[in-house]
Amino acid sequence: MDPHIIIVGAGQAGLQASETLRAGGYEGQLTVLGDEPHLPYHRPPLSKAWLAGDMAVEQLAMRAEAALERKNITIRTASPVAALDTARRLVQLADGTQLKYTGLLLATGATPRQLPGQSSGSADGCKAIRVLRSRDDASAVSDCLRRCAEHGLPVVVIGGGFIGLEVAATARKLGLPVTVLEAAPRLLGRVLAPVLSDWYATLHRARGAHLVLNARIAEIHPVNDHIAEVRLADGQSYRAGLVLVGIGVCANDALARAAGIACDNGIVVDACGRTSAPDVYAAGDCTARRLDDGTLLRLESVQNAIEQGRAAAAGLLGQDKPFTAVPWFWSDQYDKKLQIAGLSHGADSWVVRGDMHADTPFSVYHFRQGRLAAVDSINSAKEHLAARTVLTMPVPPTPEQVGSADFDLAAFAKAAQAAAA
Ligand SMILES: Cc1cc2nc3c(=O)[nH]c(=O)nc-3n(C[C@H](O)[C@H](O)[C@H](O)COP(=O)(O)OP(=O)(O)OC[C@H]3O[C@@H](n4cnc5c(N)ncnc54)[C@H](O)[C@@H]3O)c2cc1C
Repeated sequence: MDPHIIIVGAGQAGLQASETLRAGGYEGQLTVLGDEPHLPYHRPPLSKAWLAGDMAVEQLAMRAEAALERKNITIRTASPVAALDTARRLVQLADGTQLKYTGLLLATGATPRQLPGQSSGSADGCKAIRVLRSRDDASAVSDCLRRCAEHGLPVVVIGGGFIGLEVAATARKLGLPVTVLEAAPRLLGRVLAPVLSDWYATLHRARGAHLVLNARIAEIHPVNDHIAEVRLADGQSYRAGLVLVGIGVCANDALARAAGIACDNGIVVDACGRTSAPDVYAAGDCTARRLDDGTLLRLESVQNAIEQGRAAAAGLLGQDKPFTAVPWFWSDQYDKKLQIAGLSHGADSWVVRGDMHADTPFSVYHFRQGRLAAVDSINSAKEHLAARTVLTMPVPPTPEQVGSADFDLAAFAKAAQAAAA
């Protein structure tokens, strides 16, 4: 059979892989199948600049159609894949079409979790109850915000994670009353140091958002087509023209699981993006990457989708290029840009550099058993870039070095690189 690589999922990882395949000299048939009606677009602005009205819809597109044509990349939109047969190397579309592959990449992303009984997005559901993942979700959220502004309705955000807080910040920028309901005792508790969670709580409160921590949701119910009510276990209730449910995502691994490919809260891949099935790779939010110590790592970020997309494409070309880069991520809320380098899980001590209480850049350094694990920087691109370098070094700075008044991370990185050269 002539070479035919099929990519399922026309998002960040799928597009990246298709471009890396072409750049790497692959000249065979290449088919990218996406279930959405749009060509690949940037998701991050959907909760930030685009939602705030600071960006045109055309700017969401990752590539112009002509650029894709020049690279001979055909993307079939509105073409959901229904099943895989890895023994016969077949992909079956929902319309029954069967396509044969020589190499397959699964880049199916993730789906927002919903609360029990929630019916967001369904045609007969209350239009005020929403999740935010796709361009179409974002259009619906934007319509709700417009209605809120027109009818003086408040916004309720369930979940004090990145997407929820970004929507909260955007709604506040639009002048809407906002309540954030977070089940945990602090915001962004899974990723940030307690001191930075507190800083975010102060920031949101200072900008006028009402935060409820330790919130137990008892019920969400429609009041009418455009208004919903959220009731908490303590009896408190909130009516809103937008109830944005931002409580995390689940990896889209159902196709892979049904085909017998190993999955564990995501499609299990190695550092090169290989799955348990021959010539089947996976990349992006749908994956759980096996690390050297045997644990699985799930990341949901643009960088991860790009790097895994590249690694999987290299694998499909027969060249192993494992993704081992330091993970990084960003979030924009109000005029504050958070940039995270490294992985902070298991951190047991923290050092803050800079003044968190002044309106100036600062960073929080996470240490795990005395070793630098991650650096979270607020409005400090320089510190973030230096952190990405330093975290790859065999001997990163100690808590004592970071804590000293004259410490400079960029200078440390430069000196360490010079010494290693
Ligand atoms: C609102 C929002 C804000 C974000 N902000 C940031 C940020 O600030 N920084 C950051 O690093 N990351 C951010 N992210 C996360 C980032 O966008 C994702 O990590 C990234 O898009 C993952 O890329 P992916 O290709 O794995 O998945 P996706 O981009 O989700 O692409 C997967 C595609 O596959 C399609 N698909 C699924 N199943 C099938 C099927 N059976 N057949 C065909 N197609 C299928 C999906 O519909 C989707 O179009 C944000 C995400 C959202 C939603």
